[in-house]
Amino acid sequence: MNNLFSRIDILGVPFDNVTKTEAVEYAYKIQSEHKAYYVVTPNPEIVMRAREDEEMLSAVKDAELVIPDGIGVIYGAKFLGTPMKERVPGIDFTTALMEKMNEEGRSVFLFGSKPGVADKAAENLSARYPRIRFVGTNDGYFTDDEPIIEKINSAKPDLMLVCLGAPKQEKWMQKNAHRLDVGLMIGAGGSLDVFAGIVERAPEKWQKLGLEWLYRLKKEPKRIIRMMNLPKFMIVVIFSKIRG
Ligand code: UDP
Repeated sequence: MNNLFSRIDILGVPFDNVTKTEAVEYAYKIQSEHKAYYVVTPNPEIVMRAREDEEMLSAVKDAELVIPDGIGVIYGAKFLGTPMKERVPGIDFTTALMEKMNEEGRSVFLFGSKPGVADKAAENLSARYPRIRFVGTNDGYFTDDEPIIEKINSAKPDLMLVCLGAPKQEKWMQKNAHRLDVGLMIGAGGSLDVFAGIVERAPEKWQKLGLEWLYRLKKEPKRIIRMMNLPKFMIVVIFSKIRG
């Protein structure tokens, strides 16, 4: 980790205290260095997982940028007396970065999701960012890394979205970064499903109220088990504060 942002510890997981604008500017800059740095976007669910999964925690710690994706992280940080500047949803960070990349016609590789999804996302995104070159796609259901790495390295993208879900995407990026010819990677979860138009994001009103998680739960009730991590996270935050 080389950035100069202050890192704030939330239950053992370090976060960079950045605004979206700062994160995008820094990401844009390090992308040009082409060193396969990666960005992770933990929410409370990922914090809870990282507390139980050492490999996952190590992958988060090795990220060049750790941005606070969930509103729960912001509440938790404030409650613990180490407030963060703002919530930076991974998908907003990614689109703001692509907007900037569009000005210079940089290149993007989309990796992850079910077969066909990344291609559809590339089609939709090219209409939105006509100067970006979408140089390759690969679905996220594979058994062998090697052919995918070859494909990525011959495309040499400035940016690669790695959308394999947590913790697979974080571990994959950490394990393979050293042999990838890419500018920057973002572990972007379900973003390709959104860009492909398969999953709908919460309306802005819900997002502004910090209720995106509730909208998602309403749309996909089966996420309830995963979302139980949110109250668990708040309880651990409270106990952590009591213990000082
Ligand atoms: N996924 C994948 N390979 C896998 C498991 C998951 O490509 O082995 C994809 C899945 O299709 C989905 C994304 O990873 O597009 C994870 O989405 P989810 O909504 O769980 O991510 P979140 O944004 O909540 O982290």
